[in-house]
Amino acid sequence: MDAISYQRAADIGAALSAASQPGTMFIGGGTNLLDLMKGGVMRPMKLVDITHIDGLNGITALPDGGLRLGALVRNSDAANHAWVRERYPLLSQALLAGASAQLRNMATVGGNLMQRTRCSYFYDTGFPQCNKRTPGSGCAAIDGHNRMHAILGASRQCIATNPSDMSVALAALDAVVRVTGPNGERAIPFAEFHRLPGDRPDLDTTLQAGELITSVDLPPPPFAEHSKYLKVRDRASYAFALVSVAAALQMDGNTVKSARIALGGVAHKPWRANATERALVGASLDKTTLQTAAALAVQGAQAQRDNAFKIALAQRAIVRAVQQAGGAA
Ligand SMILES: Cc1cc2nc3c(=O)[nH]c(=O)nc-3n(C[C@H](O)[C@H](O)[C@H](O)COP(=O)(O)OP(=O)(O)OC[C@H]3O[C@@H](n4cnc5c(N)ncnc54)[C@H](O)[C@@H]3O)c2cc1C
Ligand code: SF4
Repeated sequence: MDAISYQRAADIGAALSAASQPGTMFIGGGTNLLDLMKGGVMRPMKLVDITHIDGLNGITALPDGGLRLGALVRNSDAANHAWVRERYPLLSQALLAGASAQLRNMATVGGNLMQRTRCSYFYDTGFPQCNKRTPGSGCAAIDGHNRMHAILGASRQCIATNPSDMSVALAALDAVVRVTGPNGERAIPFAEFHRLPGDRPDLDTTLQAGELITSVDLPPPPFAEHSKYLKVRDRASYAFALVSVAAALQMDGNTVKSARIALGGVAHKPWRANATERALVGASLDKTTLQTAAALAVQGAQAQRDNAFKIALAQRAIVRAVQQAGGAA
C-alpha cells in the first residue's frame, strides 16, 4: 500500500501552492480518481481536496447573456438548475444521461471534464501494454477487445475514447474552460481542451501541470428551442455511450439556419462534425438530406476488429438526433 497525504485547500492560492509539489493531484467528487487509485492505475503521493474552496461552486449569469458553471458545481445541480434546463437543455440532457443519480450528486464539473477513458486495458494493471497508463508500453486494445473504441482521430499508440457525456454537449455549445495556474489565468476554447492521442496518449487534455479548472463558460444560447442529446448504449442507464450525439439547431421555419453537431464514444475527444454542420445549413430536415449530411461525419473513419458497427450507428444516431432537435416526433 502506498502512503498518501491529504490537504484540504481553503482557497485557490493554497490549492495552486500545494499542486506545485510533484506527485500532487486535485480531488473533486473523487468518483473517478479514487477508483483509479484503488486499482493502482494512478498513484498520487498527495491529494488536494478542492471542494471547500469558496467561489467555485456557483452558477452565475454572464454580462453577455451566457452562463458560468463553477468547477465545483455538482453534476446533478448543474443538470437541474432552472437556467441550465431552460437555456441549455442539451447540457441538462447530457448530464442526466451520465452515470447514476448518486454519482451525479458527487461528481463535479471540473472532474467530469478530466475523467479518464473507460478502456478496460487502461483500468486493468494486469495488462502491461497501455501507452496511456505506461507510456511506451504498447496498446493492448489494438489487437484485443475493442468494441468500445475509437473510429475517428485515433493513432497506433491509442484507440481509446473519451467517456464524458457532459463534454459532448459542451463541445456542441462552444463552451470555454477557464483555468488558473502557476502562469496565471487562461481561457481554453472547448475544442482545444481535450486532445487526440497522437504519440502522447498519456495526455488527455491541454491542461498544464498545476493548473486548476475554475469554471466552464457557456456563450449566450441560440439553441434552446431545438436541441437533443441522444446516447446509444448497451443498457438504458448506468452505461457509457457506444455513440452519442449532441445536436443543436437554429431553425428558420423548416430550414436550418445554423447547426452544431458533436459526437461522443467515437474518438479520444468530443468530436465536432463540422462538415455535417455545414451541410445542414440552409437545408430542410428531410431524411435523404440528413443521411447525406451524417455520412460526412464519418468520412475517414477507421474501424478496429470489433467496432465497425459504430460507423453506421453514428450516422443513424446523427439523423435521429437532428430530426428530434428539429422537432420531429
Ligand atoms: C459506475 C460509473 C458510471 C459512470 N457513468 C458515466 C457516464 O455514463 N457518463 C459520464 O459522462 N460519466 C460517467 N461516469 C464518470 C463520472 O461522470 C465521473 O467519475 C465524474 O464526472 C468525475 O467527477 P469527480 O468530481 O468525481 O472527479 P474526481 O474523481 O474527483 O477527479 C477526476 C480527475 O479530475 C481532476 N480534477 C477534478 N477537479 C479538477 C479541477 N477543478 N481542476 C483540475 N483537475 C481537476 C482530478 O485530479 C482527477 O484527475 C461514471 C462513473 C462511474 C463510477
Ligand atoms: S486504447 Fe489507449 S487506453 Fe486502451 S490500452 Fe490502448 S493505449 Fe491504453
